Amino acid sequence: MIDVVDLLIIGSGISGLSAALEAKKYFKNVLIIDKGYHSGGRICSKKINSFCFNHGAPYINKSSKSFNLGFSNFINKIDKVVPFKVSSNKKTDDSVLLVNPNMRSLFNKHLNKLNINQKTKVLHIIKQVNYYQIKCDNGKIYKSKKIIVTAPAPQTADLIKDVSPEMLKYINRANFSQCISVLLGFNQSFDLPLNSFFYDEIGGICSLLYENHNSKYSKNSSLVIRMSDKWSQFHFNMTNDEIINHCLSIISKKFNIIKINNVVSTYCHKWRYSQVTKRLPSNASIVNKEKNLGVAGDWTLGPTIEDAYNSGKLVVQKILEI
Ligand SMILES: Cc1cc2nc3c(=O)[nH]c(=O)nc-3n(C[C@H](O)[C@H](O)[C@H](O)COP(=O)(O)OP(=O)(O)OC[C@H]3O[C@@H](n4cnc5c(N)ncnc54)[C@H](O)[C@@H]3O)c2cc1C
Repeated sequence: MIDVVDLLIIGSGISGLSAALEAKKYFKNVLIIDKGYHSGGRICSKKINSFCFNHGAPYINKSSKSFNLGFSNFINKIDKVVPFKVSSNKKTDDSVLLVNPNMRSLFNKHLNKLNINQKTKVLHIIKQVNYYQIKCDNGKIYKSKKIIVTAPAPQTADLIKDVSPEMLKYINRANFSQCISVLLGFNQSFDLPLNSFFYDEIGGICSLLYENHNSKYSKNSSLVIRMSDKWSQFHFNMTNDEIINHCLSIISKKFNIIKINNVVSTYCHKWRYSQVTKRLPSNASIVNKEKNLGVAGDWTLGPTIEDAYNSGKLVVQKILEI
């Protein structure tokens, strides 16, 4: 069966969600499809045993002195967003916000207003005379007059290469860093500052987030280790076990209170597209000539969650321009 919608959005990361919230004002039938298990894309929390790790973006950065009104409203709808000071041996950045109990909950209040199909990967977009046909890995086919693609730039380029090749010359200029995150769950708590970030370049580690929740979401304490862009790029093909062992040996040396047998959960996640290092040129068009295909995502505006949010709203306005 073919499902027909007015606007189909590929990706339920923050740019896809903000595009959908904006588009709902103008289109009757808006559908988001996403290949992941949960909405949020790179803003995500992973549950392993009794631990919950923020292994993607750990906090919201302010890209300017104050957030724009739309984004403020979006995050003000969440009661658990708190200002936070990042402790660092490099700089002190007090303009970040933590989301409690975890980053995934950033979206909770918005999701039930939207029509979202998760676990659905788009394989091909085919242009017909008056509409697009979207073929997915689970056999589903959708028909839509307009499409917005919010996947990271290389994946977006792959999806639209046959239907809008003229947009590729810009999209291919966007760049991302790679990042490896290692998650450790402990069988006890340690005397370390709670919810703290430490920057430490030893052995390629660029930040350590220690959390000590005792809630239904997370028991005992945990550590999210983020490897630097450079280290991640160089060691991307190392096995997960090798990376975890590398981190365990550094952590047990750095904090001699933590012993290897305190570690009861381990996980390694490799982000092929982590943070934007080069965005789309500012003169690049984010919609095609016919204004029925648009692209959004952090890579169209800048490297932060706020940029990704703004890009979703912007692409809807561009599609509506006559
Ligand atoms: C480790 C890490 C740390 C970060 N730290 C910070 C930080 O401290 N502060 C900050 O502001 N930002 C940070 N970021 C960046 C921030 O997470 C991103 O800028 C933002 O989440 C991007 O949102 P997006 O919607 O543009 O893309 P994404 O979140 O990547 O969403 C794209 C969605 O498209 C889906 N998709 C892709 N291809 C297909 C397909 N073929 N079919 C269906 N669905 C598809 C994906 O499943 C995904 O859900 C970090 C990112 C990472 C990975």
